Amino acid sequence: MKRFKSLLTIVMSAAIVATMAGCGANKSASSGGDAQTSTKSSNTLIGSAIYKFDDTFMTGVRTAMEGEAKEKGSTIELVDSQNKQPTQNEQVDTFITKGVNALAINPVDRTAAGPIIEKAKAKKLPIVFLNREPEKADMDSYDKVWYVGAHAEQSGTLSGQLIADYFKAHPEADKNHDGVVQYVMLQGEPGHQDATLRTEYSIKAIEAAGLKTQKLAADTAMWDKAKATDLMKAFMTGQGVDKIEAVLCNNDDMALGAVEALKAEGYNKGDASKYIPVVGVDATAPALQAMKEGSLLGTVLNDAQNQGKATVNIALAAAQGKEINKENVGFDVTDGKYVWIDYVKVTQDNYKDYLK
Ligand code: BGC
Repeated sequence: MKRFKSLLTIVMSAAIVATMAGCGANKSASSGGDAQTSTKSSNTLIGSAIYKFDDTFMTGVRTAMEGEAKEKGSTIELVDSQNKQPTQNEQVDTFITKGVNALAINPVDRTAAGPIIEKAKAKKLPIVFLNREPEKADMDSYDKVWYVGAHAEQSGTLSGQLIADYFKAHPEADKNHDGVVQYVMLQGEPGHQDATLRTEYSIKAIEAAGLKTQKLAADTAMWDKAKATDLMKAFMTGQGVDKIEAVLCNNDDMALGAVEALKAEGYNKGDASKYIPVVGVDATAPALQAMKEGSLLGTVLNDAQNQGKATVNIALAAAQGKEINKENVGFDVTDGKYVWIDYVKVTQDNYKDYLK
């Protein structure tokens, strides 16, 4: 009996210690970081529609949104709009009928945000858009609409600098010695601000660095790896692989698709005489692995973690009637409506910082 009692005491004290440790962990998790983290929002429900689940970058954002909502003790319901705007519109109707407290929408077609805003406005519901920026007129049509994204020009500039720096450090990259960077460009979805601006600003940055450029070919691969492999193969056949001196891609999935096409021809597999610099944007886990193995020159961090976090923080604060400012959401707010998350250049010097 005595033995049983002392065993019981040990078990109980262990349980108490474990509970205390648990509380401590919770406390430090909820009190660290921005002011907003200490607010529990147990009854708040966010309804979120993502343009399509099958998108590597948006999967990272989704995971971040779920993590942040959980940390705040709130609930987020995420649905897959399957790249169809009518489906997304119906999903928004369902969320409204269900009585969500805020909406977080990654539109399929960013020019079709207007009708979604109207739906939210009719119910005085806060709505946060992310990753696909609605037009300014739509953003101005309601006082409870916000946007979380990143300046696409910045990512374009940083990816162009990766190529410019490479050419300066490796004169042999100018294979035909004509002093001009002959490049191909794999673009994202037409009409997406990130596709348009990354394309434009990457080339501007190469030229701003004092290099001349010549576009050999450019086309969309719709942000998609498999489509990018096919497109790159077509570019290689059409142009002749030895004519291509640089491959610029609007995102990492397409960069990895292009790398596959190059590898199939024996390029970017370790033989220095058979290497063409390829750059992407996002800093996804497979892209960082490709940097590690040397098949991808570089990328630009598109900060999924902070974009997801800012979206959830705004939705929760707005649902609680709080003002949307740095104090309440933990991020700078521009013009009362926009949260811009910085991009970061990822090179051989710092990629390990992002590798998980
Ligand atoms: C990302 C792409 C992604 C797209 C989805 C962009 O910001 O770089 O990888 O496919 O957003 O809208």
